[in-house]
Amino acid sequence: MTPRQPTPPIELTGTAGRWGAARPLPDGFAATLVGVCDVITDVGAVADASRDWWPLAMHWALAGQAPQVAAVVARPASTEQVAAVLRACTAAGVPVTPAGGRSGVVGASVPAFGGVLLDLTALQGIVSVDAVSGLVEVLPGTFGPDLEDELRGHGLTVGHYPQSFDIATVGGWVACRGAGQYSTRYGKIEAIVAGLEVVLADGTVVRTGGTPAAAQGPDLTQLFVGSEGTLGVVTKVWLKAHPLPPSEQRAAFAFPTFQDGLEACRRILRRGATPAVLRLYDAPESQRGQGGDGTYCVLLVLDEGDETLVAATMAVVAEEAAACGGSDLPRDLVERWMHHRNDTSALQALTRKGFVVDTMEIAAPWAALPQIFDDVRAAMMAVPHARAATCHLSHSYLDGACLYFTFAATPPPEAVDETYVALWDAGQRAVLAAGGNLSHHHGVGVNRARFMAEALGPGMGVFQAVKDALDPAGVLNPGKMGLRSPFGEVAWP
Ligand SMILES: Cc1cc2nc3c(=O)[nH]c(=O)nc-3n(C[C@H](O)[C@H](O)[C@H](O)COP(=O)(O)OP(=O)(O)OC[C@H]3O[C@@H](n4cnc5c(N)ncnc54)[C@H](O)[C@@H]3O)c2cc1C
Repeated sequence: MTPRQPTPPIELTGTAGRWGAARPLPDGFAATLVGVCDVITDVGAVADASRDWWPLAMHWALAGQAPQVAAVVARPASTEQVAAVLRACTAAGVPVTPAGGRSGVVGASVPAFGGVLLDLTALQGIVSVDAVSGLVEVLPGTFGPDLEDELRGHGLTVGHYPQSFDIATVGGWVACRGAGQYSTRYGKIEAIVAGLEVVLADGTVVRTGGTPAAAQGPDLTQLFVGSEGTLGVVTKVWLKAHPLPPSEQRAAFAFPTFQDGLEACRRILRRGATPAVLRLYDAPESQRGQGGDGTYCVLLVLDEGDETLVAATMAVVAEEAAACGGSDLPRDLVERWMHHRNDTSALQALTRKGFVVDTMEIAAPWAALPQIFDDVRAAMMAVPHARAATCHLSHSYLDGACLYFTFAATPPPEAVDETYVALWDAGQRAVLAAGGNLSHHHGVGVNRARFMAEALGPGMGVFQAVKDALDPAGVLNPGKMGLRSPFGEVAWP
């Protein structure tokens, strides 16, 4: 198994959270948990387990604080142990926050009101492989490399390679509706997942999915995919796997403008071609990391799979790129990207220097993307202390695509929080106003909770009703996704 790679090492000096003291556990509650599963009470270890990769919380960690600190970490090793912990938390009204790799970037696994941090990484490994159907049954705490290494022995791949592949778990992929870098061929996780085992707040164990294309009511699997631990705890996942790809082809192109490149991507997808990697960088990002000189936009393409399909896909790509003003670039730009694609050390270094740095990924229909590209960058750059707002397209669909913005600001230390909030307000509202969604794959967590009612409209009432029905005591990951919490409001922003 892959050694767990936690959040960047930062020594937390306090045991209280940024958001104040959490409510104490009821008398005897910790002893109840000890009778159920492994429990960690060491204050330093619990404080460290209470943070994820949310960039603003990284600033707070540098000042010695986690956003909030759990009372204990519970580490169940079976579905039955998860069910027993949830039953105890519901009965006693104790908040319980599921956590996988804690690689989330929106504060989703931060225990906003203390209570129990439910570490699911002891539930690790592949349970079974059905090589005929291409179905793999896997435990939720399994990290990406462990999944793919073992599947390779069966001649299979799931094809889900998020940038956080080494540090995120299968359960976290499902809970956040994640996307891998090869998603234009393999799909986002919601397209890959075939079924789930979920433990509800009262300890009931539910099995969803399991056969293709069932017409037996609403798809309950999709109810839990993206629910970020607010509706239930995922204890098993069935994923669809493909034969290992026998062939691969690469290409790179330069476009005079981002809009020209967008149009090429749109036409490629509208013709039915789905190259695994289709990444279009604006001119500044092309210059920063993709070999550009700041005057053109780089499109990187890679496809893998059946040789005939790959050849046809790449022929469509070349035709549409040329039709939209693209000119050929050396293919080794793709190789270069492959080597650096998971390296985020530059962004971490900027945070350590006091920069406000973050990324915002959204999706929108093709027709709305040119305006969102312009509006978001303009809105962010109008925020005091903003230094940069750049963009690339990273995942494409028949009807639209994901734009991924990277932004940076250099506020004085006392204005870090307000600058961070202002940048997100400006960017996210520009997206929503122009017809985009709130998030494509990072999810909502704490950071985006304040936009959920705007994004879902009356649909937010439906989500709340589902939450109230499945978790009437409100103990599952409270304070997240804009849902009401019996423990009060999160003290942020
Ligand atoms: C450097 C970096 C790059 C990234 N790149 C990508 C990327 O390319 N694509 C992408 O999609 N994301 C990316 N992310 C974000 C993050 O890795 C994903 O959101 C990932 O899916 C989170 O998985 P995790 O195991 O770390 O979950 P955690 O961060 O531990 O938890 C995230 C949420 O899921 C819930 N959860 C976790 N496990 C379970 C479970 N078993 N049952 C119920 N709820 C659960 C938690 O309560 C929380 O709400 C990146 C993050 C970093 C730091």
